Amino acid sequence: MTEHAVVIAGGGPAGMMLAAELALAKVGVAVVERRPDHVLVGSRAGGFNSRTIEVFDQRGIADRFLPEGQVHQAMPFGATVLDMSDLPTRHPYFLGIFQNQIERIMAAWIAELPVRIYYGCEVTGFAQDDTGVDVRLSDGAPLRARYLVGCDGGRSLIRKAAGIEFPGWDATRSNLIAEVEMSEEPEFGLRHDAAGVHGLHLMEDGRTVRVVVTEQQIGPSSEPTLRDLSEALIAVYGTDFGIHDATWISRFTDMTRQAAAYRDRRVLLAGDAAHVHYPAGGQGLSLGVQDAVNLGWKLAQVVNGISPERFLDTYHAERHPVVARVLQHTMALGALQRQDERMKALVDLVSELAGMDEPRKRLAGIRSGLDIHHDLGEGHPLLGRRAPDLDLITAAGPLRIFQLLHDARPLLLNLGQPGDFEITPWADRVRLIDASYEGEWELPVLGVVSAPTAVLIRPDGYVAWVGDGTHLGLPDALATWFGPPTAA
Ligand SMILES: Cc1cc2nc3c(=O)[nH]c(=O)nc-3n(C[C@H](O)[C@H](O)[C@H](O)COP(=O)(O)OP(=O)(O)OC[C@H]3O[C@@H](n4cnc5c(N)ncnc54)[C@H](O)[C@@H]3O)c2cc1C
Repeated sequence: MTEHAVVIAGGGPAGMMLAAELALAKVGVAVVERRPDHVLVGSRAGGFNSRTIEVFDQRGIADRFLPEGQVHQAMPFGATVLDMSDLPTRHPYFLGIFQNQIERIMAAWIAELPVRIYYGCEVTGFAQDDTGVDVRLSDGAPLRARYLVGCDGGRSLIRKAAGIEFPGWDATRSNLIAEVEMSEEPEFGLRHDAAGVHGLHLMEDGRTVRVVVTEQQIGPSSEPTLRDLSEALIAVYGTDFGIHDATWISRFTDMTRQAAAYRDRRVLLAGDAAHVHYPAGGQGLSLGVQDAVNLGWKLAQVVNGISPERFLDTYHAERHPVVARVLQHTMALGALQRQDERMKALVDLVSELAGMDEPRKRLAGIRSGLDIHHDLGEGHPLLGRRAPDLDLITAAGPLRIFQLLHDARPLLLNLGQPGDFEITPWADRVRLIDASYEGEWELPVLGVVSAPTAVLIRPDGYVAWVGDGTHLGLPDALATWFGPPTAA
């Protein structure tokens, strides 16, 4: 039987990101993807948020997406727009880029890494035991893995076969999403009414229109047709604009659910397999990529024998509450899209509040993903938050913090006296860099915080320990996050 340390079911954005993270950590990884190749029919998700661009920047690939995307520094919110232009990041914007472009770029990236991909093949089931998982495939030849990760989308077979519950809220509305041609020139842009939001957007070829229309009643689970789309458009616009030549029609709903557990022994979930929600605010793809970056280095350390299996529990402990909060936010955004007269009064009120500086900053923090705070205990405000991408001076010259994370290894940044730290027992795992930085430390939502003398940064970019002139707590933090010291 062919063996891989980790098998990932599903090669969408979450699966590809996880495969890359594992490959960077030198873990033997294989992806099983049902599609015959990475090509995605239809444009699907429309981009990603600041934190996700930062995550790609941490791996040195942000520049592959930026030229193909459109920068949006203000995003729709109720009856107003949320200004995100002053977020303290190099990327204070939502990057508008369609999922088929994103997946093409990600597929090219993982093709450069040692990742085995089984295209045109489906995971049909699995059986786990104390040492690993037998993964059954549609083409008959099973795989053996130490861990199996379900990145197989909202209808996840892995989640269902593992018996993991998926509690949440049933759908209250559905939308049709399509790419079509139109004989009549429509009115492009967004429209709100009592049913919800509708949008018509001319695509880059100048001919195809991306349609998102809220249906008057929840549609059936069967594949939608051009006739369904025509009826939905007529109900909103009074005409279907002569739609024809649809290259893609799909339906999504506002069903909102989250896996009760992100792990069952040797089986884990990430991305839509772990959570589904209404796409208001464009958060779905970002959540999956960030799940993968949280899980990747942890799973690698367990596979490589650095950390015990229970270390994987920190994945659920950290990501479940972060995603639960975003799901609440998407439900609120979805509710604000339904604008009958009474709802409109509420929308106007909330929009007014969102225009004030303090609420705006908080909302921008959630929408951008930059306000994520893992509860790692009491301490400096940086603890459990993402390290900002500061310009450092090092012995090798000027470097950005994110450049030091490209190889996905932990980093101890000494910003005090050069040579002040000695971490030989962890030197095989943790990189120590002496650096200086003269500017302010400004965090999203919180503002300027006191400058630390050292920071221990995890491979996912979150701060695991903060120095205040002493080394107090550092050995414990190193052992907790990066395994016991190596004997001299
Ligand atoms: C129609 C539609 C429109 C959307 N529009 C938006 C939007 O406008 N904005 C937004 O933010 N988000 C949108 N989303 C959500 C966004 O696409 C997802 O959040 C994102 O793709 C999640 O990534 P993922 O990798 O977790 O899952 P997916 O992208 O679903 O990837 C799962 C992968 O697993 C493969 N797979 C499934 N089962 C198996 C199996 N048993 N064996 C092997 N492979 C398998 C699939 O082929 C797929 O490639 C939309 C989703 C859909 C379906």
